[in-house]
Amino acid sequence: MRTVYVNGQYLPEQEATVSIFDRGFLFADGVYEVTSVLGGKLIDFEGHLARLKRSLGELDIAEPADIGNLLEIHRELVRLNEIDEGLVYLQVTRGDPGDRDFIYPGAETEPTVVLFTQSKPGLGSAQPAGAGLRVITIPDERWGRRDIKTVQLLYPSMGKMMAKAAGADDAWMVEDGQVTEGTSNNAYIVKDGVIVTRHLSNDILHGITRAAVLRFAREAQMVVEERGFTPEEARAADEAFVTSATTFVTPVVEIDGQAIGTGVPGPVARRLREIYLDESLKTAI
Ligand code: PLP
Repeated sequence: MRTVYVNGQYLPEQEATVSIFDRGFLFADGVYEVTSVLGGKLIDFEGHLARLKRSLGELDIAEPADIGNLLEIHRELVRLNEIDEGLVYLQVTRGDPGDRDFIYPGAETEPTVVLFTQSKPGLGSAQPAGAGLRVITIPDERWGRRDIKTVQLLYPSMGKMMAKAAGADDAWMVEDGQVTEGTSNNAYIVKDGVIVTRHLSNDILHGITRAAVLRFAREAQMVVEERGFTPEEARAADEAFVTSATTFVTPVVEIDGQAIGTGVPGPVARRLREIYLDESLKTAI
């Protein structure tokens, strides 16, 4: 049984509750962050906190009173739940105004803050389990502000179900002929040594792992192009991979049933995973 955090209190998970009038429940009016834990320490915490503040600002959700204590709360949950490898999930909603109304409530309604942990032994292994991911491509039917990390995760869930139904592991979403990103990760291909991933805009989430991986790649003298690419280009690539806080760098070996390169995890993805794990452990807190 886990200890979770709700609005200032650490509670056993079955005692933690949120109102039925919470706008996160009624309107998906909330944002979230997921931070990984390796060796009991938080990876890229400052990046996740910065993006949380940006997401709240973009939606005019007040910063919760706890905002200055979030590091301490994350650490306390990791300690209480004895997490060595795993995740800390954080959700902030616009709160519970006591009734349903499209109009945002006033300042008297405080944001709801929920955090919980998930234990994931093996999360930080040098090579992820399995031989790499098989992905399908699906149309991107999400809303237009994908740069805000909102809890509106229904379409990504549908995408994962479409992948499952097709016997694949995940889906890459396509808009105007180009891949935007994976259902819960940023998408990359490698061709002739060049790493290609979609440029930042409102069309994709600005991945915290993406930012770190691109920095490390450039520091290692790898060539990076931030631009859109088509599913055809992806299928003809030498390698493909995804990044996220929960998967770090994970190779993709098949797209729409077609093997990428030799059909096994490629050297660039494997190397970037090693570099990412090494470097981010150095700054874990
Ligand atoms: N893109 C989407 C749609 C996501 O949901 C996520 C993570 O949940 C990412 C990209 C990767 O972001 P990060 O590296 O910050 O986890």
